[in-house]
Amino acid sequence: MDKQQEYVLRAIEERDIRFIRLWFTDVLGVLKSVAIAPAELEGAFAEGIGFDGSSIEGLSRVYESDMLARPDPATFQVLPWRGEENGVARMFCDVLTPTGEPARSDPRNVLKRALSKAGDAGFTFYTHPEIEFYLFESVSSPDQPLVPIDRGGYFDHVARGTAHDFRRDAITTLESMGISVEFSHHEAGPGQNEIDLRYADALSTADNIQTFRTVVKEVALQQGVLATFMPKPLVDAPGSGMHTHMSLFEGDRNAFYDPSGEYQLSATGRAFIAGLLHHAGEITAVCNQYVNSYKRLWGGGEAPSYVCWGHNNRSALVRVPMYKPDKGGSARVEYRALDSAANPYLAFAVLLNAGLKGITEGYELPEGAGDDVWAMSRAERKALGIQALPNSLRQAVELMEGSELVAETLGEDSFEFFLRNKRSEWEDYRNQVTAFELQRFIPSL
Ligand code: GLN
Ligand code: MG
Ligand code: MG
Ligand code: MG
Repeated sequence: MDKQQEYVLRAIEERDIRFIRLWFTDVLGVLKSVAIAPAELEGAFAEGIGFDGSSIEGLSRVYESDMLARPDPATFQVLPWRGEENGVARMFCDVLTPTGEPARSDPRNVLKRALSKAGDAGFTFYTHPEIEFYLFESVSSPDQPLVPIDRGGYFDHVARGTAHDFRRDAITTLESMGISVEFSHHEAGPGQNEIDLRYADALSTADNIQTFRTVVKEVALQQGVLATFMPKPLVDAPGSGMHTHMSLFEGDRNAFYDPSGEYQLSATGRAFIAGLLHHAGEITAVCNQYVNSYKRLWGGGEAPSYVCWGHNNRSALVRVPMYKPDKGGSARVEYRALDSAANPYLAFAVLLNAGLKGITEGYELPEGAGDDVWAMSRAERKALGIQALPNSLRQAVELMEGSELVAETLGEDSFEFFLRNKRSEWEDYRNQVTAFELQRFIPSL
């Protein structure tokens, strides 16, 4: 047993932990959890805990369904909302095949593979997500209308608003689990909020996003409200994005920083953006994985619809944010398409590989988009070579099907599982007869 594993066993004894939840994710990024007793933990570290992988979306085929979950001791945290007595802790797991090999279809493994490829090229990948979500009054069925808990707008201070208490409780809980929060505020939509996690290596951030979603849902239950990461819950209010800031480090040095570059961006940073833009269409299904995601991307509200980049340009897909000249370390690029319902492991993996491809292939960065691309005419965009992002899940899936980059990044199994799931989501959606259609044809009395 290694030092970290010993530390976990000691902490469990000292803090009177009675249950340990083993966490992992399915191909869509849905958190899965199995609780074990402390006595099982030594075995879990050594060999993993067996479960039926074929019951988990996108993990294994039925004929090879036995899988193992092996906890990563570096992710040990006590769950604060379960109380001090008879405590409950959690660890993220790596999923293994019955022979003890890392399962290539485990989203955490997909990201680890991408990170190790970046490592071979000398890079460490850091991410910092801005997570938006809505708070509604609780409902007991999806047929009930969604009523936002307040009428606040961007950065509003809502007097006696529930949102303050909500953000305070959520942030306190996150901090007590070792997740640093940088920023939080009311967002533009009624009942919409944003919480930004401090930057960290991409694997930790992806784990943190999974914890974040759980914490936000727990706090919502405690406060009797409904929290949702649905990309576009309201027709006439902005959707919920998960803008992600990214940087590559070479040792202690931020590889995106060059004081003499345009916007202080290095050649590596420029090539990374070029990679993101070049592959933007084909990675969109992963970054925006639901039918509903496209209602956000094409619904205005500062969500990006066109493939272009800019400096502080909030209609661009990729933005190079301003930072203080003395803070070269914070040079970064922001990818603004990602939404709050994405699988963070898969999304970070495809973003990283798209950017890396730009670096290894030496892609040329097109001219930045200075103007608001939304306000341009079709012809103006065409003249500048600015393409549109897919406008439906169907289109995004088609682009992904032809993508070598996404196939390689996800690996054969996840690639197929993901596409199968999304094709069927599209089919189910296509088969609906919606209220919109009925209203067109059935006269109201
Ligand atoms: N909600 C917007 C989106 O969907 C972002 C708004 C903002 O943070 N400026 O991307
Ligand atoms: Mg923000
Ligand atoms: Mg925001
Ligand atoms: Mg942003």
